[in-house]
Amino acid sequence: MAIPFLDLAQVHRELRDEIVAVVGAALDRSHFVGGDLVEAFEHDFAAFSGTRFCVGVSSGTDALRFALIAAGVRSGDTVVTVPFTFIATAEAISQAGAQPDFVDIDPRTYTMSPERLRTYLERCARDPRTGRPISRRTGTPVSAIVPVHLYGQIADMDAILDLAARFGLLVIEDACQAHGAEYLSRRDGRWRTAGSIGLAAAFSFYPSKNLGACGEAGAITTDDGDLAHTCRLLRDHGQSAKYAHDIEGYNGRLDAIQAGILSVKLRHLTRWNEQRRENARRYDKLLADANAALDLPYEPEWSRSVYHLYVVRLADRDKLQAALASRGIGTGIHYPVPVHLLKAYELLGLRRGDFPDAEQAATQVLSLPMYPELLAEQQCAVSAAVQAHIAEGMGST
Ligand SMILES: *Cc1c(COP(=O)(O)O)cnc(C)c1O
Repeated sequence: MAIPFLDLAQVHRELRDEIVAVVGAALDRSHFVGGDLVEAFEHDFAAFSGTRFCVGVSSGTDALRFALIAAGVRSGDTVVTVPFTFIATAEAISQAGAQPDFVDIDPRTYTMSPERLRTYLERCARDPRTGRPISRRTGTPVSAIVPVHLYGQIADMDAILDLAARFGLLVIEDACQAHGAEYLSRRDGRWRTAGSIGLAAAFSFYPSKNLGACGEAGAITTDDGDLAHTCRLLRDHGQSAKYAHDIEGYNGRLDAIQAGILSVKLRHLTRWNEQRRENARRYDKLLADANAALDLPYEPEWSRSVYHLYVVRLADRDKLQAALASRGIGTGIHYPVPVHLLKAYELLGLRRGDFPDAEQAATQVLSLPMYPELLAEQQCAVSAAVQAHIAEGMGST
């Protein structure tokens, strides 16, 4: 029984009639960019995320870039994020004109370590004029923090927001993997949804995300009306009315067919996320015996992850990946090279050893098959293959 890492065909079979109807309606009206379908989706996704505004754009990368620019990040700024993320987080920072800088992750949650962030900020000199911390590496003032809600789990935002307030920094969430994830804010005494915690947040609707388009799409969520307005300008060449270009913008709009498809899928997202959480609990139980050889995902009591990925961790990751592949089980590695060691960022001058927790995670993490439709017997087969590999390894040493 082959088990793919991801199976998108099944959900599209189930929703086929509704999706085809959306495409048909768009063809009939010949409304392909912007319009009612985009506005309807924006309205629904803002409600889902618990924010006042949602601005649909063409990708998660654009969402993050526009959110940073609209928040006031400028060239000559430094923006702090984590090295253990998809490259798009750093690209959006650079393409907003700022320089990315990094703090290491918490090795248990794989998200930004608030302690590391505190140490980083406390070691910075302060700009005498603005009081902002000056990055020791870039020599320019830090203006924003971008925590990444990796694998569907929200970073420890209370501590990050406290530090941001203390140092006068903006917080933009990279929520591209965390649609619907929840975080218990101990200082607010309530659960908060991904995308509603920072000043603004970026979501991706790349097909494999928890909410995926049938193509490229993304969105910004925020409670800040001015920021939302600026994002609307930025996605559409800076236009406030036809040919009234108030600022220089981009071509980063959300197309109507994708918005319509996203509205159809959004109606199922809460249930899909719940199925992912059930599947995660099933893996937790099935793999509990392997716990000595394998770290399972860590979900603190303040977190309700939506398990975009189910990631285990072990020393001989590559051998386990090969063993699973030989049994027809697909896996993934998110991510094999931390951003600061990518060729694209050689110019930053960062080296191996600069972010040891991210570097070690990159060599040890393995993403098992995870999607709402994954069957219990498929999970049993994955678990049996993992346990067999571990048992073999123990026999041979
Ligand atoms: C997917 C993703 C992005 C980029 O989204 P795109 O829609 O592919 O541009 C950014 N950050 C993270 C953490 C992601 O997983």
